[in-house]
Amino acid sequence: MNTRYQKQALFLGDKGQAQIQHAQALIIGAGALGSASAEMLARAGVGTLTIVDRDYVEFSNLQRQQLYTEADASDKLPKAVAAKTRLQQINSEITINSHIMDINSSNIEALVKNQSIIIDATDNFETRMVVNDAAVKHSIPFIFGACVGSYGLTFPIIPGQTPCLHCLMTHLPLDGMTCDTVGVISPIVQIIASLQVTQALKLLTGHKLIPTLQSLEIWKNEKSEINIANMKNTHCPTCSEQATYPYLSFENQTKTDVLCGRDAVQILPSSPLPIPIQSLREHIKPLVTKITINPYLLSCSFEDYRVVIFKDGRAIIHGTNNASRARTIYNRIIQL
Ligand SMILES: [Zn+2]
Repeated sequence: MNTRYQKQALFLGDKGQAQIQHAQALIIGAGALGSASAEMLARAGVGTLTIVDRDYVEFSNLQRQQLYTEADASDKLPKAVAAKTRLQQINSEITINSHIMDINSSNIEALVKNQSIIIDATDNFETRMVVNDAAVKHSIPFIFGACVGSYGLTFPIIPGQTPCLHCLMTHLPLDGMTCDTVGVISPIVQIIASLQVTQALKLLTGHKLIPTLQSLEIWKNEKSEINIANMKNTHCPTCSEQATYPYLSFENQTKTDVLCGRDAVQILPSSPLPIPIQSLREHIKPLVTKITINPYLLSCSFEDYRVVIFKDGRAIIHGTNNASRARTIYNRIIQL
């Protein structure tokens, strides 16, 4: 007999355990929250995990992003790749899909279809609003989670039952707080991810959730629980009867994105790279220095900036928080 899930099945029952093993979970982001949630869900035996992340591992991640090692940071491995490798070592009996990708209105709906649950582990509200629209449209529970400093909050969005993120946006206290300005300590990440996964396990095993926004300030020993059941906006553009899902139909989404706490800007080109990155290397040799390349990305230096270009043409420009400066640098390098 396979004893791997014995203790969990004793708690959840054999039926609950079977439900988990047949479930599919989508984790949006493989940073701190995503690492912690993914590890718990993999160990719990969730049948299929899909992990989506746009970034690669850096040494500054290792303080709190538990799936990654120094070798991953040295090799600049995409988080989606490093996470999959580590999770498959933890549990080889489950299926793990990973995508190196920036979530947007054109790719989210294909990802959420057929999922049992979606875990929020992103670091920005624009992505969350896109996921929120897709989750509500396709009736898939979405567990919100966010943390900064020593503070974190989580609540479940259950389409047809609870308010959605759009309804609650104006009630959330995270305005102006990013890890750029206040940093983050790892225990709050572990706590919020644990609360998110608890909600996920309850939902996957058919238990009813109490629609509560839980928030904690662990440095000051403060916590609060707010019942969100009555916070639904009857005119919400995402979850009311007149829903238009505005974040799924944005024609002109932001093509540049200042990355949280990184002194870096992401560039999302409107068309993919016309040549493979190996050919790009030859092409840009006269312009840049310190070129390194792996199967997923190319890294190089240009003036005082470090530039990382992924296979699909997406790039991260380090050394600036100025979006237009970053776009100029990108255009000067990629003159194809
Ligand atoms: Zn709503």
